[in-house]
Amino acid sequence: MYIIMLGAPGTGKGTIGAEICKHFNLNHVSTGDIFREEIRNKTELGQLAESYISKGQLVPDEVTIKMVENTLDRMEDVILDGFPRTIDQAKALKEILRGPNKKVTTITTVINLIVPDEDIIKRTSSRVVCSNKKCGASYNPVFLPPKVEGICDVCGSELIRRKDDEPETIKQRLDVYYQNTEPLVEYYESEGILEPIKVDIYSPTTKEDTTAEAIRRIEKHLNK
Ligand code: AMP
Repeated sequence: MYIIMLGAPGTGKGTIGAEICKHFNLNHVSTGDIFREEIRNKTELGQLAESYISKGQLVPDEVTIKMVENTLDRMEDVILDGFPRTIDQAKALKEILRGPNKKVTTITTVINLIVPDEDIIKRTSSRVVCSNKKCGASYNPVFLPPKVEGICDVCGSELIRRKDDEPETIKQRLDVYYQNTEPLVEYYESEGILEPIKVDIYSPTTKEDTTAEAIRRIEKHLNK
C-alpha cells in the first residue's frame, strides 16, 4: 500500500507518519530527511538541495522526482512524507507506480493534516530535532518536550533547531506550500482518496488522537 502524508510544514506529517508506518509496518520515505542526510554527507545533491532548503524554497521537481524514483524502485508498502509537493510530482508518482517492478500500482489514501497558520508558526519556531543523524527524533518544548532540556530522550544527543525552522523561513515555506502544494488537495480529492484531518495541537493527546483517526481513515480505504 502507498500512503501520502499531505499538509503544510509543521503540521506533524513526520510524527504521525512514523506512527502510521509502525502500525501498518510500512517503509517511511521522507524527502526532507533524504535531503538533510545528503546535506550532512556533503554530496553534490546535498549542496544543490541546501541552496533551496535554506531559503525555504522547494528543490526543483526534476531533482526531487529522480531521487524518489530511485528510492521507490523495488520498494512496496510505503508511506510518503513530504512528497509529492507539486502537481508535477503527483503526476510523476503516478508514472512511477506504473513501473515494471511495481506490484501495488495505486495510492491507497492521502492523509491531509490541517492546522491554522498561526499555530504552525508558533509550533515550528519552537521545534528542536536530534543532532544525531541516525536518530532524527523531533521535540517541541511546548507540546512534546524532551525529558531533559536540550537532550534527546532516545539517544542522549544534543537537540538543535532546524535551519529552515527560523520564523522568516517558516513564513516563506508556508507561502510556497499555498502556491505549490495546496493544489494537491483538490487533485487527490477528485480521485476520492483524500482524508482531511483537523489537528488540535493544544490537546495533550493530539499525537495519539490524530494517529488513531488516520489509521481509521486508511482502514476505510483498505476495506473498499
Ligand atoms: P520537510 O522536512 O518535508 O519539511 O522538507 C524540508 C525541505 O526540503 C522543504 O522545505 C523543501 O525545501 C525540501 N523538500 C522536501 N520535500 C520536497 C519535495 N517533495 N519537493 C521539493 N522540495 C522538497
